[in-house]
Amino acid sequence: MHSLQHALEQTQKTRVAIGHFNVGDWVLLKAVFASEQELKVPVVVGASEGEREFIGVRQIAALVRSLREESDCPIFLNADHTHSLAKAVEAAKAGFDAIVFDLSALPFEQNVRQTKEAVETLKTINSAILVEGEIGDIGTGSEIHEEAPDLSRGLTSPAEAKQFVEATGVDILAPAVGNMHGMLKSMVQGQTRKRLDIQRIAEIKNAAQVPLTLHGGSGTDDEDLRKAIAAGINIIHINTELRVAWRHGLEEGLSKQPNEVVPYKILPFAVESVKEVVHSRLKLFNGNK
Ligand SMILES: [Zn+2]
Repeated sequence: MHSLQHALEQTQKTRVAIGHFNVGDWVLLKAVFASEQELKVPVVVGASEGEREFIGVRQIAALVRSLREESDCPIFLNADHTHSLAKAVEAAKAGFDAIVFDLSALPFEQNVRQTKEAVETLKTINSAILVEGEIGDIGTGSEIHEEAPDLSRGLTSPAEAKQFVEATGVDILAPAVGNMHGMLKSMVQGQTRKRLDIQRIAEIKNAAQVPLTLHGGSGTDDEDLRKAIAAGINIIHINTELRVAWRHGLEEGLSKQPNEVVPYKILPFAVESVKEVVHSRLKLFNGNK
């Protein structure tokens, strides 16, 4: 029996990272699953509150469960950026493997108090569920942004990370280390890349002693990602890059077949386009396996 806890322990030993890919429809999920099957590495499928709303909480859980039964490699399901206990409980009851309980917008003390409460409640529903907490500011919205937000004052400090993990009992921590949600236009065009504070990652890892997740990985410098994994990042989230590829693939499918109306003849272009991104990211996260 595969568990996310076990897969994370493996990454700590082998210094690789598990790819986390957001899905809001079957095209994205199909692309992630196909890449996982090709490369034979564990993956996490993520669905945020908005993505869950569209695809259905119990429906995405059922889809991932059915893929897991057909796969000889672990595929896990995460309730990404969950902002209320009610939504977290809903996902836990539907069978999600992990929950990102994100109250990072609240003052630190309040975030600690409510995250601790969420960890206790969620573990009574499923003792094996992993709860991830978040501190610091990494912006919102896995979309294309016009301007870069100023996140410099919201960087996570190692002392804060240690205090948060000890006080809440979270299994995984999502720090702010130069990462940000979404991409700038210049990043989509390949002119600029996100850069990470590698030293800070190493210090946070040392202080917090738990698996770390890097959110907002899209558009990050490849070498920085490799160094971040070596410094202690265990899970890397990619969403915006998939959304850009999804749109490009869909546009290609439509423009190449202007009179086509059959979904299963149009959508494979989107699957293929997303798959290319997932494939190359998984290779990088797993040491070019
Ligand atoms: Zn995120």
